[in-house]
Amino acid sequence: MSQPKEIPLMEKIVSLCKRRGFIFQSSEIYGGINGFWDYGPLGAELKRNLRDTWWRAMTRDREDVVGLDATIIMHPGIWKASGHVDTFADLMRECSITNKRVRADHVEPQSGTVLRFSGAESPTGWRLDRVLTVLMGKAEHIESFRKRVRQLLVQSAGAAAGQPDALVLHGEEKIDVVEGSVDFHPETGGLLGAARPFNLMLKTYVGPTATEADVAYLRPETAQAIFAQFKNVVDSSRQKVPFGICQIGKAFRNEVTPRNYTFRSREFEQMELEFFIPPDEVIRILHGSVAEWSETADLSAPQPNWGWDMWHHYWEKERVAYYAGIGLGADLLDYHRQKPDELAHYARACVDILFKFPFGTEELEGIAARSDFDLSQHQKHSGKSQEIFDEDLRTAAGQLDDAARTAFSASVQDEWAARAAKNGKPEDAARAAAQEFCEKLFKGQYVPHVIEPSAGLDRLALAILAAAYHEEEKADVNGKIEKRTVLRFHPRVAPVKVGVFPLLKNKPELVAKARAVYETLKRQMHCFYDETGNIGRRYARQDEAGTPFCVTVDFETLGEKGPELLDTVTLRHRDDGRQERVKIADLLGLLLPQVQ
Ligand code: ATP
Repeated sequence: MSQPKEIPLMEKIVSLCKRRGFIFQSSEIYGGINGFWDYGPLGAELKRNLRDTWWRAMTRDREDVVGLDATIIMHPGIWKASGHVDTFADLMRECSITNKRVRADHVEPQSGTVLRFSGAESPTGWRLDRVLTVLMGKAEHIESFRKRVRQLLVQSAGAAAGQPDALVLHGEEKIDVVEGSVDFHPETGGLLGAARPFNLMLKTYVGPTATEADVAYLRPETAQAIFAQFKNVVDSSRQKVPFGICQIGKAFRNEVTPRNYTFRSREFEQMELEFFIPPDEVIRILHGSVAEWSETADLSAPQPNWGWDMWHHYWEKERVAYYAGIGLGADLLDYHRQKPDELAHYARACVDILFKFPFGTEELEGIAARSDFDLSQHQKHSGKSQEIFDEDLRTAAGQLDDAARTAFSASVQDEWAARAAKNGKPEDAARAAAQEFCEKLFKGQYVPHVIEPSAGLDRLALAILAAAYHEEEKADVNGKIEKRTVLRFHPRVAPVKVGVFPLLKNKPELVAKARAVYETLKRQMHCFYDETGNIGRRYARQDEAGTPFCVTVDFETLGEKGPELLDTVTLRHRDDGRQERVKIADLLGLLLPQVQ
């Protein structure tokens, strides 16, 4: 999936983000902490706007989705039921010299000479009797190797502090020349050990005793809280399946190799929807058959005879439309449709929406059809029923005669048995489960299935920044060519919507008018008032912050160039530099629809 790296562009984005206050390294004054990032003033606004657009699209604009705001720490039983305690692991490999870990599938191929040393010694007499195998591929490998060996010497000597400045390596042996090998740590060059699973959940203790019985986890995804609260939401919200519950919130994963800036962090925010639907069997009883998806299927409005496949495609379409609405058009996206052998055993389908990041085309959001796996797991582990009752289903099933019910049950058993066989599971058990499931259906009861569009807010912010980043060459007032950066954010997500300036700061009438315009606009949208520097500089500063509009109060505004221009301002557009005269009274009506 990864494509060749364009490091320079990424470096430019990282440096702009720091310079303009979008993203800072967490705890920077203490040297930072790997995999954690803070959002500065502009970044915080950008994220807030993204959250708002998502929330609006997913729940406020819909009648069939409601929101949830659950805790980060939940009962550990939730993570046992969801499978995270036992299987939420990445395979990782450890550098034999530095103990640094890397995800087994993230080791970049390297070439060079493999050297083996039998040990090392310092002139002070400290000795290290250990075989050290290292790939001398990059210059930094040699440096980091020597540095680490010096540290190991200090450790083995039990010295409290200090570093031997000289180092003698023993028994050097050239053992191989490798090409494209994935057996060496990409940063240190040290030989990697075998792949071992590493659970990604961050642990903590709840309560004062801090024993193993008090272990709790920081949630690795927001989704499980939605499943755990499913029944409460059904009972309190008057929603009926099909309907969804969405949530935005922090998630934590102890990623083995956080990388690509904020793309893979250890603390991040997710925006997830669990959309609950009836199993296809319910649709068959209610409507005779399930609508079949095709390339030309009409997905514009949900229909009662949709099964999981139509719903899955529908949500893909909705999500792509959402991205287009905030400036990520089809040309910037790609898709990865998981093949049957890539899917989790319970999943029916999964499509990843990918974004063309500067470092490669990578996942922005996953949309999975997860069957009834999650609710059924919680039903099993909590002992609390997660079934819903559907009166229409019971009525429709009641109208089937015995023969029709038997035929229906037999066909469901055949389907379930075939699926079990495909997944290497016992067919008999599948048939028994199918029969029990049908008996429940005839009474109007079932555990809903789910379609899950799951997006990362930080990845989205990074995608928005990368898509917005443009460089322009422009002549300044003296005709000198200047390179300038413009962030072409969609006005809906731009951190600052309007910059408001008096043409000159030493003209009290201009300042007073500009302040008045600013006070009016700022009640409706995020504005920035600026009176320092020449007007071209102020425009450039706002271009770099991605502000789509600037309003300048000038002498025309004061009526000095004719009464017809009194109380008009210059409205300047970021992307084409166009300037127009607009009445102050018309500003809000003009800008508001574009930024909301
Ligand atoms: P990946 O394969 O990239 O690790 P995933 O398939 O494990 O991601 P999901 O568990 O499906 O990801 O999580 C849903 C979304 O949450 C992802 O599409 C992504 O946008 C976001 N996300 C997941 N892990 C991280 C992370 N470490 N940092 C930032 N965002 C993340």
